[in-house]
Amino acid sequence: MDFSLTTEERQIRDTVRSFVEKEVMPLEPEVLRNEREGRPALDADALRDLRTKARKSGFWGINTPEEYGGAALGPIMSAIIAMELGRTFVPFSFGGSADNILYAGTEEQKRRYLLPTIEGERRSCFAITEPGAGSDARNIRTRAVRDGAEWILNGEKTFITGGNEADFVMVFAVAEPYGVTCFLVDRDMGWRSEPIPTMGQWGPASLVFEDVRVPEENILGEPGRGFELAMEWIGQGRYMIPARAIGSAERMVQMAVDYAKIRRSMGRAIAEYQAIQWMIADSQVEIEAAKWLTLYAAWRVREGLDARHASSIAKLNGAVMANQVVDRVLQIHGGMGYTKELPIERWYRELRLLRIFEGTDEIQRRTIARNLIKGHARLGLIGE
Ligand SMILES: Cc1cc2nc3c(=O)[nH]c(=O)nc-3n(C[C@H](O)[C@H](O)[C@H](O)COP(=O)(O)OP(=O)(O)OC[C@H]3O[C@@H](n4cnc5c(N)ncnc54)[C@H](O)[C@@H]3O)c2cc1C
Repeated sequence: MDFSLTTEERQIRDTVRSFVEKEVMPLEPEVLRNEREGRPALDADALRDLRTKARKSGFWGINTPEEYGGAALGPIMSAIIAMELGRTFVPFSFGGSADNILYAGTEEQKRRYLLPTIEGERRSCFAITEPGAGSDARNIRTRAVRDGAEWILNGEKTFITGGNEADFVMVFAVAEPYGVTCFLVDRDMGWRSEPIPTMGQWGPASLVFEDVRVPEENILGEPGRGFELAMEWIGQGRYMIPARAIGSAERMVQMAVDYAKIRRSMGRAIAEYQAIQWMIADSQVEIEAAKWLTLYAAWRVREGLDARHASSIAKLNGAVMANQVVDRVLQIHGGMGYTKELPIERWYRELRLLRIFEGTDEIQRRTIARNLIKGHARLGLIGE
């Protein structure tokens, strides 16, 4: 069993860390100011500049296959890079990647959707959730009815990340007689979007399809196989959610340690009180546990092993951990933690989402328990 990184992996991690510290973290005050004044965290030009700088440093297409010009660094490095990016609340990610399921497209679909998404020329969104079907995703009601060489889509999607900005949507609809099918639908084919205000900075949208005509050649994969594609999209990146949260949690605990050393109460630095020390200690213990569960899930993906059970464990644990840690860090900062002068309240609101999207805590628990009960996973295994 080897927990070490290769020299090259360590160099990549250190270069990302220094990029985040030198280029991304300095934007934090601007992000807070923009958000407080109701503007997007980073305007499109600032994001483009940052991505260009990153690309010059070799950070582009982290998980994109080399044949598409990417770095193909693989799941473990992707998780480690996400941890580094999570140290800042600036909503930045390296460019050059596209949704995994777009690789299942035909050559023509790859030319029109995959390649421009990798290049950052087109923006996608993934739409399965509906007002009446969230955790119960098999219950979607959006309908696709064939009319000659076209399909006519009717229905509503909700909480779609990036749905108000996207140029096209990977939308899941019940296509009779096949069943759930994924369609690639350009905005100019006629769907509408409306932003949904939330407690965090994420701006999901509701999407409305009213007699939207989609050509047959825009079906992604096979008709009736959409649900598998949707699970592939969700499953692929599940370990990336706790990865980013681990970076945020570590940064916050460091803030708490620094603050506890300078904040005095009743004649002493609060760092001297056991009540504070225990919050710091418990936080690090939980972060370390989350880190290794996440890397284990990423390792299973890298090895081509079934990673669903490990990813559910990592996602559930990481989401709960991040929320516990941010709560403690806020507590250690007292009243200051509650103000908008510090980013802690922002993280507090943002991290809450992790327990809801891409499978709620309860759905992860359901998956884990069912795997054990049905014998798909076993207790007591090491390294298998
Ligand atoms: C900011 C944001 C971004 C999102 N982005 C996307 C996106 O890009 N694309 C997309 O398709 N969706 C997206 N979603 C939707 C998200 O995946 C769903 O909100 C989530 O799956 C939960 O579904 P729901 O909101 O309908 O809750 P429900 O399914 O109605 O659940 C309500 C409560 O019941 C619990 N529950 C439900 N079923 C069970 C069960 N069988 N056993 C025990 N408890 C259960 C849940 O855990 C939850 O506590 C996003 C959501 C948010 C908030």
